[in-house]
Amino acid sequence: MKVTVFGIGYVGLVQSAVLAEVGHDVLCVDIDEEKIERLSQGHVPLYEPGLETLVRENHAAGRLHFTTDAAEGVRRGEVQFIAVGTPADEDGSADLRYVLAVAETIAEHMERHQVIVDKSTVPVGTADRVAARVAEVLARRGREELTFAVVSNPEFLKEGSAVADCMRPDRIVIGTTSRDAEEVMRELYAPFNRNHEKIIVMDPHSAELTKYAANCMLATKISFMNEMASLAEMLGADIEMVRRGIGSDPRIGYDFIYAGAGYGGSCFPKDVQALIRTAENIDFDAKLLRAVAQRNKEQKTSLYKKISHHFEGDLQGRTFALWGLSFKPRTDDMREAPSRTLMEALWNAGARVQAYDPEAMEEAQRLYGNRTELTLCGTKEAALKDADALVIVTDWQAFKAPDFEFIRQQLRQPLIFDGRNLFEPGRLQKKGITYYSIGR
Ligand code: NAD
Repeated sequence: MKVTVFGIGYVGLVQSAVLAEVGHDVLCVDIDEEKIERLSQGHVPLYEPGLETLVRENHAAGRLHFTTDAAEGVRRGEVQFIAVGTPADEDGSADLRYVLAVAETIAEHMERHQVIVDKSTVPVGTADRVAARVAEVLARRGREELTFAVVSNPEFLKEGSAVADCMRPDRIVIGTTSRDAEEVMRELYAPFNRNHEKIIVMDPHSAELTKYAANCMLATKISFMNEMASLAEMLGADIEMVRRGIGSDPRIGYDFIYAGAGYGGSCFPKDVQALIRTAENIDFDAKLLRAVAQRNKEQKTSLYKKISHHFEGDLQGRTFALWGLSFKPRTDDMREAPSRTLMEALWNAGARVQAYDPEAMEEAQRLYGNRTELTLCGTKEAALKDADALVIVTDWQAFKAPDFEFIRQQLRQPLIFDGRNLFEPGRLQKKGITYYSIGR
């Protein structure tokens, strides 16, 4: 099938590459000229395992194309994906301006029936708004005879395993009441629906809410565990023991119940806020979600508080080695990352940071290149040199079994703050290292 994807970020690019991989002809449209230029030359502008190869191979095979020409995008595709960003507005609600701009573009240029698929995470009712906007523009053009369907098709990929998630999705949610549109979507996704039935068809409102419900549930699990971690610390319990103890109950399960430095990324914080706003708009107080967000905000300051407490508030002129800048492993994404909250608090207190991340160095340079209080180091070892302590913020594999003797030699004192509970406290104590972690 001929598919056009508007918005070539984490979601749009991965989805495009995966659709091309199974044989669809995919045209990627973005307004960012530099990004499109780089992609056309084979440079993938973000890190996601397996993505670069997939993009290069499918581009070379002539199934994946890149353009900034929106009119060409509309002309070419029989299915038009909207995968642009939906950042938080000033009041926390989802900003739909990019989604509606693409809807207008499609309506402006369409000359035949179109299936318009909303892949961005959008509040309940957005499919209706997109349909209304398209109808408005068609009326303005005097082309009311042109038909279209709007489908809500939320994306559930996880950054860090996005390619694998799209290749083997857990579920494919299709929100539409049109049988014809459903059939088009079934044909499009047939290659991903072979092993067993993964397609769940529902009305667009339910599909839109499904995405928010999924992210809010996951954020709730994290905030719950962080709350238990604080209790464990004060009550003399070990959250890692508690985690194993509760995870063994199959109704709870081991997945996604780690205490840590707080959730970040481009989705959980904004999606929890957006659903709170949606609730407010209909005079419903989403008490649980407000607590989830508040708990996370506090959690993101937990490492800083431990550091400040250890040094009795005197951080002026101190240097900290920081391992991990991305909001989670296997991505270069630093949006809302706990590392940013921590670094900014350390800088405000007069401290310096020597940071290393396996993939997010370029992104850190882009965000903080002008900060003299930050040194970006080429290796995790280099970041340690003469620092007052090591702080671990992201649980990259490469940080899980470090050379502790080397760490001791490099630091001014044997001191580790670990926001991901990577090590056994007893083991570090034996090595003579003062070790702070979360909930233990
Ligand atoms: P992103 O910010 O990485 O990419 C968005 C892209 O859209 C940018 O390249 C931007 O230049 C482009 N764009 C903006 N306006 C445009 C226009 N009018 N025409 C064409 N392109 C335009 O965003 P993302 O992380 O890929 O997220 C996209 C959507 O998917 C969001 O709604 C997000 O909530 C949702 N989502 C994200 C993830 C994730 O892990 N990142 C997972 C599931 C769902």
